[in-house]
Amino acid sequence: MNILIQNGIIITMQNKKIIRQGAIAIEDKTIVEVGKTSKLKRKYGRGYEKIDAKGKVVIPGLINTHQHAAMSLLRGYADDLPLQEWLEKWIWPIEKHVTAHDVYIGALLTAIESIMGGTTTVNTMYHYTPEENEAKAFADAGLRGVIGHVCFSWRKNEDRNALEDLAKNWHNKADGLIRVSVDPHAPYTVDPEYMKELKEIREKLNAKYSPEKAPLICHIHVAETSDETEKIRTAFNIQFKDGVMAYLDSLGVLDERVVAAHCVALTDRDVGIMKKRKVKVSHNPISNLKLASGISPVPKMLRKGITVSLGTDSPCSNNTADMFEIMKTTAIIHKGINKNPTLMPAEQVLEMATIEGAKALSWENEIGSIEVGKKADLSIINLKKPHLCPIYNEASHLVYVARASDVETVIINGRIVMENRKLTMLNIEKVMDMVEKAKNNLLSKLNANVK
Ligand SMILES: [Zn+2]
Repeated sequence: MNILIQNGIIITMQNKKIIRQGAIAIEDKTIVEVGKTSKLKRKYGRGYEKIDAKGKVVIPGLINTHQHAAMSLLRGYADDLPLQEWLEKWIWPIEKHVTAHDVYIGALLTAIESIMGGTTTVNTMYHYTPEENEAKAFADAGLRGVIGHVCFSWRKNEDRNALEDLAKNWHNKADGLIRVSVDPHAPYTVDPEYMKELKEIREKLNAKYSPEKAPLICHIHVAETSDETEKIRTAFNIQFKDGVMAYLDSLGVLDERVVAAHCVALTDRDVGIMKKRKVKVSHNPISNLKLASGISPVPKMLRKGITVSLGTDSPCSNNTADMFEIMKTTAIIHKGINKNPTLMPAEQVLEMATIEGAKALSWENEIGSIEVGKKADLSIINLKKPHLCPIYNEASHLVYVARASDVETVIINGRIVMENRKLTMLNIEKVMDMVEKAKNNLLSKLNANVK
């Protein structure tokens, strides 16, 4: 389909360029021209579906670089607990009963919530099964995503098969919407030898399934809590000095295709290593606050020139998929703890949620900004609302004021997936019914197990 968006304020995220009375012409999946409405209107007349963006801003779709999409099924199941107890006593026991179909349904729900909040790409880490999975859910919702299979030392064979199957069936599939990643869970649940093997597997899968410009990446939790070094030492009976990144670097597994989620407890040496190895960061401030893990030294990493993107983390540790909340939290917590109101200005935070997110996923050649030749992944936000009035600075409003519910229309890969807040690909009521059913099944299986 060809589309002409007209009369909008286009926040391109390309060299800070903003076009007022702007227009975007889309042919098939791709942005073919960006400019003034007066000019584009003449050129792209018949055969183009028109979207009037008067009084609205058009931004590149938001990019959520750390999710566990299927876990929306467990939203609100267990809160207000320390990370280890939360995982071991609550989340992992109930997850044992999660079926492939549950994974699909949970991911569908997250896909819907993401799209309705203006997010067009989600990087998700969960258990992959060939029958039903997060990749299928995202493809069915029309959401762009990087789908990972999470790997643990205790199930190496299962992981090896899952990774091969995932890459073969889903990498660069669904019209280029879906890419794949190899996901070691964390340095304390993946032993050093397996960590090295997973890097080799990633390289092999890249050679086998990946076109040059669509790399298969690595997604991992790193330095989420301050006792992580101790956890690694205890788990694998190994000694090392300095931080977790230094440890991973000693294994030779860090490179520019690694997205490290959290990065809360870092030493100065760790930060230097990340810069040197071009490791990408997913900052998850709400999850880190909710689990009381601490606050990541984001301003320090940004000063070093490290790519820092934004993520919500799972619907159990956040508990929403709302990237607007993440942007606002990011903008204010670093000011607060550093007692410096000039840190993390709105424009910079908006970059972290768009173009920096694309860089973190090694996908910046296709997404993250509104530029000719890139895929049409766009969110249109209605500014004609009391809480967004008046307007002096659009970036300020997007970061400090706008809410997910202000997003009106979303286009992904040139396809309108939400128009005037109505989803075009899925029936929301039906998905919510399936979620309720899956929740009841899970609880009855858990209770039967306890008895
Ligand atoms: Zn996580």
